[in-house]
Amino acid sequence: MNITTIKSIKDIPQEENLSPGTPTCAGCGGLLSLRHCLKVLGEKIVVVNAAGCFTLLAVYPFTPFKSSWLYTAMACAPAGAQGIRDALDILIRKGRLDSKENLKVVVLTGDGVAYDIGLASTSGALYRNLDFYYICSDNEAYGNTGFQSSGATPFASKTGTTPIGRISPTGLELSKKNLFEIWRSHTPPYLATISPAHPVDLINKFKKAEQYKGPKLFINLSPCPAGWVTDPSHSAKFARLAVDTGIWALKEAIYGEVKHTVVPKSFKPVEEYLKGQGRFAHLFKPVRQEETLKRIQEMVDQYWDNVCSRESRKR
Ligand code: SF4
Repeated sequence: MNITTIKSIKDIPQEENLSPGTPTCAGCGGLLSLRHCLKVLGEKIVVVNAAGCFTLLAVYPFTPFKSSWLYTAMACAPAGAQGIRDALDILIRKGRLDSKENLKVVVLTGDGVAYDIGLASTSGALYRNLDFYYICSDNEAYGNTGFQSSGATPFASKTGTTPIGRISPTGLELSKKNLFEIWRSHTPPYLATISPAHPVDLINKFKKAEQYKGPKLFINLSPCPAGWVTDPSHSAKFARLAVDTGIWALKEAIYGEVKHTVVPKSFKPVEEYLKGQGRFAHLFKPVRQEETLKRIQEMVDQYWDNVCSRESRKR
């Protein structure tokens, strides 16, 4: 299949399938990416929305979606998607629905669902090779219930359940789960990480994914002014810094084969990303936590050292 990719932001489709005026927080990075995702997915879709921040998007009788929307509990959005997919397939097979009227099935979740509560049902859907899109808006905590830590929360982040104090000056002591690798172990046709600061990369990934039947998965790093304690106007800046410092790697995996799609020419120190985010403020004040900052930088360096040695082995 011939895929028409885009080259610059001037080529981003004008079409809007998500109306303005949603009740999510100002500067929500998840919403910024979702708008771009829907430009490619179009309006002939059914959104299956697991409980989370995006629950706010469709509150009867108002909806910013041009498409249909189904709400599910946190654990079972892929099961809802399976039901819709099966129903559409049966109706088309029986001739009760023209195949031109077919709809794409799109699961929309936050990281609490994707990394924790809904992981089992997602694994089941990947195992069954369900033909669907899955978008995880990863703001690295349970955002809509007060920013408690989730399996996506990074090491040293302050959250509602990992407050900073005398006993715990570091914040979360655990490291973020590697959801990309968990999903990759199921070898889906298409899997990618995306960022609201790289809309061209995002749009091209969705265009590329269109050619595959089966699970198509996207993890979006979503700056969250409410939980990251950042200025809403700085969401794109932090999304860009996450990529420029190497803490958020933009990549894709086609049937398990990984390729990095955006590699900074020179990496900025990870401190530039952490600085200015209230959830990491304790690493800089009242005393600089050198050891913790060094450990975070080392984790990022180690990741890219492995990528570079893997890629040079391929050549
Ligand atoms: S809490 Fe964070 S992720 Fe949720 S809507 Fe607000 S900005 Fe977006």
